Amino acid sequence: MSDTPISSVPERLSRRSEYQQDKLNLSFEFFPPKTDKAEERFWDSMDRLAPMGPEFVSVTYGAGGTTRDRTTSIVSRIERDTGVSAAAHLTCVGASKEEVGEVIRGFQKVGVSRIVALRGDPPEGVGQPFQPHPRGYRNAAELVAGIREIGDFDISVACYPEMHPQSPDWYGDIENLKQKIDAGANRAITQMFFDNNDYLRFVDRARNAGIKAPIVAGIQPIHNFTQVANFAARCGTSIPDWLADRFDGLEDDPETHALVAAAVAAEQVTELVDKGVTHFHFYTMNRSPLVFALARLLGRRPT
Ligand code: FAD
Repeated sequence: MSDTPISSVPERLSRRSEYQQDKLNLSFEFFPPKTDKAEERFWDSMDRLAPMGPEFVSVTYGAGGTTRDRTTSIVSRIERDTGVSAAAHLTCVGASKEEVGEVIRGFQKVGVSRIVALRGDPPEGVGQPFQPHPRGYRNAAELVAGIREIGDFDISVACYPEMHPQSPDWYGDIENLKQKIDAGANRAITQMFFDNNDYLRFVDRARNAGIKAPIVAGIQPIHNFTQVANFAARCGTSIPDWLADRFDGLEDDPETHALVAAAVAAEQVTELVDKGVTHFHFYTMNRSPLVFALARLLGRRPT
């Protein structure tokens, strides 16, 4: 037997986070609230998470541009009220280049300098073929190039550790990411994934294809397993059997569900930190407790 002491997961994590604090980046994703009650929860969560020092927080863009004005106004309010840098998501679904350009210039007017640039999905859902607007951008790579023509934005794009469901093969998928980066994106943020090997293999594929931009790990803490599993099925993320097994039978036991969710997410980020990952993008679902706890585990304290 070896004499080397076996360090526990918390020991490993705290050592790592001390070591990497200056290099570790966090970002938090929110969606625009629809009701007064949801808005209250949104700002409560923002107030709790903004002091955890994210590099930026981002606000999604409703399918088909349905939240266009709300996304813009929320993002500008976040910057004004919290001082945290905020990114507006933007899609090109159902809009001409001129209309998308207007939205981008609207961002500029209110001081938004970060955009998460996406193609988006047809209103009928991700399973349906994407039909660009006759005078619109055909994909996210074209959108990135269009944004670059308008102004000096920090641009993030999406990528998919298990391949985008509409990609013909891995070559096409990685080539598409390369086009987005070559068009001027600063980083890629991954779709949620639950098997870290999918992420690590994806990063290898991208690096082998010459992509040098950061590939930020998109982490979905499981606030509600049933909801997350349904969403995962729609966007092509697989749920490993071991994960389903951990949440099996917890539908009516929120306390244990929350504890298991915290353990699962802690395990996932701990392993990724050990593998050298330095930027995590947390899908908050506008809820703070799990993400707050994970940020603390990663060494962050409210400032
Ligand atoms: P693209 O990079 O354009 O690619 C989509 C697919 O089309 C790929 O398979 C690609 O290979 C293929 N493709 C690209 N160009 C061509 C071509 N010329 N011919 C044939 N095939 C082509 N959705 C929203 O509605 N609002 C949001 O706020 C939002 N935020 C997101 C944030 C993140 C971090 C992620 C990962 C996803 C987000 N999405 C959002 C979902 C996203 O819009 C969908 O995943 C969409 O299906 C693809 O968008 P994309 O930008 O990756 O598309």
